[in-house]
Amino acid sequence: MLKLDNTKRETYVSCPRKYYLRFILGLYPDKGNNALRYGVVWHDVMKEFYNHVKENGWVRDGGAIEAAILAGKKSWDKYTGDKEFYPDYRTFENLCACFLQYIDHFAADEGFMEVLEAESLFRIETHWSNEVEETAFPTLQPFMFTGKKDLTVKLNGQLWFLEHKTTGWQLSKKIQELHRSPQIMGYTAAGKTEFFPEEPGGVLVVFHYLTSRKSKVTGEYGKLTVNFERVPQIFTNEDLENWRLSFLNTVNQIQLDMRRNLWTMGQDSCYRYGRCEFCNVCERNTSIERLEGNVPYGYYIDEPWDVMNER
Ligand code: SF4
Repeated sequence: MLKLDNTKRETYVSCPRKYYLRFILGLYPDKGNNALRYGVVWHDVMKEFYNHVKENGWVRDGGAIEAAILAGKKSWDKYTGDKEFYPDYRTFENLCACFLQYIDHFAADEGFMEVLEAESLFRIETHWSNEVEETAFPTLQPFMFTGKKDLTVKLNGQLWFLEHKTTGWQLSKKIQELHRSPQIMGYTAAGKTEFFPEEPGGVLVVFHYLTSRKSKVTGEYGKLTVNFERVPQIFTNEDLENWRLSFLNTVNQIQLDMRRNLWTMGQDSCYRYGRCEFCNVCERNTSIERLEGNVPYGYYIDEPWDVMNER
């Protein structure tokens, strides 16, 4: 049965070939990705910090910070492996410094936020829920909507989900994008199903902004610019109904592509957010059949990523 989380959904919508290479073939570039490593480790640090708070309460003995940094180092080393990374300002030392700033920034959470769960996976088996969906997608097969909620908390007695995001993009732009975020709509829908009949307040998105300018003369990175912002997102039932139709449409397309093993190239996406990590493969126009038997130079094949198998 197809398992689809938001990362896979977004990848397929941007480029079906990228979805195939990443999530079916399990193709990874030898070169490491600084932004990705920083984001993964930041999430692990947050998970351990809030786990400690959940187990021990908001005690001020430094135990939560120590546990979080230890978990972060382990995750950093694991992610780094033997991969090569371009020198960058997203170092583990800077991550630890930002984490301490984060704790200061949200110091008022102590005694106000009750931590229920740090990182929880969800899997919701889904198929048509009404005639409109059945008529629109007659070939749709049952599938699993999966995902990972970073943090489940109670604020003033109300249930909220927190989602951590790291970014170097302009924060005002990232906050504006949230109003139409399929990821956050999906989490809201999943939360409503999971906790029914309790009505969650919504999703609080916690941005960690980090950037640094590179000197054209020395090539060195300068002072870090660090910021944090917590933004509540609440969606209407109509938003969620439209999100669901769009999600079903994507699932239907993926199931069709799987049946015919046809994964078209979304060339519009090749350079949309910088150069796609698979350009070296696609520019050679290597066929799916050939890819299945030969690992392209500069890549390796491993277990395809899936949110349900993380750690
Ligand atoms: S290089 Fe372009 S076509 Fe190939 S996977 Fe990336 S986005 Fe898709």
